[in-house]
Amino acid sequence: MLSAAESCPTAQRIARRFCGNADAVSTLGGMVESGRLPHAFIIEGADGLGKSTFARLIARGAMCSCRQPLSGECEHCRKIRENIHPDLMIVVGSGKINAISIESIRSMRKDAMIAPNEAEKRVFILEDCDNMLPAAQNAFLKIFEEAPPHVVFVMTCRSAMNLLTTIRSRGRIITLNPVEPHEGARFIAEVMKAADQQSALNACVTSGGNIGEALRLLGSESASQAAQKADTIAGGIIEAMCSGSELALAVKCAAIGRDRAMGGMVCGILCEKLRCALMAAVGAQDTLESPDSQALRLGTVLSPEAIMERIDSINELSDMLKINISMPLFNTRLAIILQ
Ligand SMILES: [Zn+2]
Repeated sequence: MLSAAESCPTAQRIARRFCGNADAVSTLGGMVESGRLPHAFIIEGADGLGKSTFARLIARGAMCSCRQPLSGECEHCRKIRENIHPDLMIVVGSGKINAISIESIRSMRKDAMIAPNEAEKRVFILEDCDNMLPAAQNAFLKIFEEAPPHVVFVMTCRSAMNLLTTIRSRGRIITLNPVEPHEGARFIAEVMKAADQQSALNACVTSGGNIGEALRLLGSESASQAAQKADTIAGGIIEAMCSGSELALAVKCAAIGRDRAMGGMVCGILCEKLRCALMAAVGAQDTLESPDSQALRLGTVLSPEAIMERIDSINELSDMLKINISMPLFNTRLAIILQ
């Protein structure tokens, strides 16, 4: 296996955008640098290993006009990065089994015959081809065989073994693998700036070096942290309402800070807790599945009418988050309507 440092300059530039997978990266780099790109690629690997990202790097390799290939300053590189290049076509599956249909293949066939708009090549990325039915694969094979020289096809799949042998034998197969966790963590923290080094490392170890899965773990981790924070703030607000202290209420509401999403979450939790308080206030707390002790206590302090009024006011205020109310104003109003 070549390390990035041993490979060509183009491969080294690709390595800055694609983590690990030195073989795949140096193969693509070599092809782009020599100007000899095959007209069909099959990228295989588990979900989360970067098949779509790598397919787009191939598309850039096919179209790029940067002075040094793939350094990123040309229009083609920019438009592909922004997903607006007219010569890059993404074909995706549909229906229950999410398979690329024979109709999609037929319309792709027409598109493939048209000369490129801006670049020298037209690139078709066929995503997740594992479930493509044999009839659709055979229709695709025909395009393959009569493809004009300006076309590059890139298929992605979990395993090339899911494709017909006739297709497999005509494409250049590139296999993507999980990365070493430290390498993945450095990429997530320094290149993607998606998390700090330590959380990224934990996620990469858990995901077995699958960067997509690690990012998903990091995302759900931060979402559950946010939900926990919202719950704590809402609990503090209910507590302050029970105590009747205006100052405590203002302080607890201010804890939402400038986080708009947090404001929405806190409102949602508050309404739930107030409905629970309402049940207590009308003496129906026994019907609650999971009674919240703070909310039950609030039900003994406020009248049912007062609680309903507050629920309505919270809903109105929460709607104002969508029309960009300033967060300090939101927090202040929340404290006032709950007093
Ligand atoms: Zn370029």
